[in-house]
Amino acid sequence: MKKNFDILIIGGGHAGAEAAWITSQFDLQVGLISSPNASLASAPCNPAIGGVGKGQVVREIDALGGLMGIVADKAGIQYRTLNESKGFAVQSTRVQVDKDLYTKNVEELLAAVQNLSIIREMVRSVERVDSHFTVTTELGNIVTAKKIVVTTGTFLGGKLHTGEEQTAGGRVECKESVGLNELFNEIKTLPNRFKTGTPPRLDRKTIDFSKLEPQESDSGTRNFHSLNSPFKRESRQVSCYLTKTNYETLSIIRANKERSPIFNGQIKGVGPRYCPSIEDKAFRYTEKDVHHVFIEPEGLDLETIYPNGVSTSLPKDVQESFIQTISGLENAKILVHGYAVEYDVVDTSQLSKTMEYISIPGLYFAGQVCGTSGYEEAAGQGIIAGVNAALAFLGKNPLVLDRYDSYIGVMVEDLVTNKRDEPYRLFTARSENRLYVREDNTIPRMRKYRRELELTSALDDFQEEFLEEVSLLEKLVDSTMLYSTKENKIYFDQYNYGPLEINISFKELLKRPDNNPITVLDRETRRLGIAFDIDVVRTVAVATKYEGYIDRAVVESERINRLGKKKINWESLADSKNISFECKLRIKTIRPETFAQLQRIEGIRPATLAYVAGNII
Ligand SMILES: Cc1cc2nc3c(=O)[nH]c(=O)nc-3n(C[C@H](O)[C@H](O)[C@H](O)COP(=O)(O)OP(=O)(O)OC[C@H]3O[C@@H](n4cnc5c(N)ncnc54)[C@H](O)[C@@H]3O)c2cc1C
Repeated sequence: MKKNFDILIIGGGHAGAEAAWITSQFDLQVGLISSPNASLASAPCNPAIGGVGKGQVVREIDALGGLMGIVADKAGIQYRTLNESKGFAVQSTRVQVDKDLYTKNVEELLAAVQNLSIIREMVRSVERVDSHFTVTTELGNIVTAKKIVVTTGTFLGGKLHTGEEQTAGGRVECKESVGLNELFNEIKTLPNRFKTGTPPRLDRKTIDFSKLEPQESDSGTRNFHSLNSPFKRESRQVSCYLTKTNYETLSIIRANKERSPIFNGQIKGVGPRYCPSIEDKAFRYTEKDVHHVFIEPEGLDLETIYPNGVSTSLPKDVQESFIQTISGLENAKILVHGYAVEYDVVDTSQLSKTMEYISIPGLYFAGQVCGTSGYEEAAGQGIIAGVNAALAFLGKNPLVLDRYDSYIGVMVEDLVTNKRDEPYRLFTARSENRLYVREDNTIPRMRKYRRELELTSALDDFQEEFLEEVSLLEKLVDSTMLYSTKENKIYFDQYNYGPLEINISFKELLKRPDNNPITVLDRETRRLGIAFDIDVVRTVAVATKYEGYIDRAVVESERINRLGKKKINWESLADSKNISFECKLRIKTIRPETFAQLQRIEGIRPATLAYVAGNII
């Protein structure tokens, strides 16, 4: 075993795998140490990558040279474009993956990296000694490193709950790690532990698929990895299915409130507001009995099915009863029961935007240990922490992403400017600039950041060429006119382009509300005898279509940015009669010093923000 590394990553989940992959591209000696009983980048919850806001993160990671997009394409078994009806600007990619194929590919790709050593042991303690760190494993082995990236997920002080049953563990069938305060002696943890949960896994053979609504893989959704051909899939494609809960389902859950660890006081940790358990839904929305349940395969050859939407920590017998009330699941057999896990979280207000712990240089944190929830959030932080550990080791300038042009930038800033009081998830409303931070313009947005890494690979050549083509096509769109000739009028009618009473610019045609700008631009460039790559066409077409909105959004986000810098007096707000009790409680806990910090507190109402903006600053 090699014992002295330039950079050591502790934990091999999605954050750790991403950090290991990127740091080893810098030609440093890198170690990844992770527990022997959890496979690398495994999926303890739904094996799906992407989603609203998160698809953007996967493409941002990909543009920086990351791993997640490459592996999601290798293991992708069902592709969807979410928000398809809402317009191109807010669309996101979601890919259901085969969870075994995913982890197998991550393990193979990491094992093939020459300057990366993978050690499968539990870490027992981390100590800072002069300018390096000494890490001691459970077996008493000692490893040293100049920089450390900690990505231990839900394992620190982890406790699992299923009804009255409570066991120590990081997730099902995985032993817990010692708590944060035991692992380090100088780290600030949040006073509240966090919690997350997962649904029971069902036996595929016991589900009556004829009663469910199938959702096929969408062949028009682009693969994640930019160097992959857009639509050619690497794995066989399958369907996911849709069913619903009903009055009977929710009645069983409501009748067992006192047996629910969330409601009987057994679980003290705070769960993710935007990913509620079925118990939360039952008691939060008492008038609603119908909730969607997506029946999603965990793999091509795996027997387990994931019922997305019924995460629970109710006792096993209650889980069995309520599952069988759902259409198509009347005979469903549970193979693994649902559970919740409580764990320690680091106080991210102690981190800088490089994910470095401010008072302990050389120590970085990323992933669920930072209070986030989700694979993409974890991987996005992993790449930032990994890159910055490498750049710091090499004495180079740090990489900090701006919230105005990336979702990773939004997340990092939200995390480090606030003390968290509940798990953090990314969604598009967290960005002030979401019309600009899209999937289709990832390379134009991210190229400047990738350049800062000073790495050279096929990805860099590809991105430079891509930008050249985008610029060429933009010039063509700017300079081409469509003349109101008889021949053109017939052509316009043929493709339903709308009237051509006067000459119009190419731009105007793309902006017409009923035209799909991608189809039109693709067809028209071909007509001119110049075939551009479909990704280049998409980037230019969507940017042109939304040009006016985007310009307005940029002006608005600059205004918000200016307002955000204004100082506020949190003590006077906490006393104010014009602010709700719940908002005042959050203000007292988090103590925001600027309007931007106030805005980023989870649960602060728009009315409070309007009051502060109009009356206080
Ligand atoms: C029960 C459960 C439910 C979830 N529900 C959802 C959900 O509904 N939606 C969602 O988006 N996300 C959910 N998640 C979260 C998602 O799984 C995580 O956000 C993501 O996996 C976090 O990645 P990570 O790399 O930060 O940590 P993890 O994936 O947890 O990986 C941590 C790694 O660190 C290793 N490790 C820990 N301690 C040590 C140590 N001392 N020594 C060596 N190795 C160590 C572990 O073995 C593991 O490999 C859930 C997770 C769990 C466990």
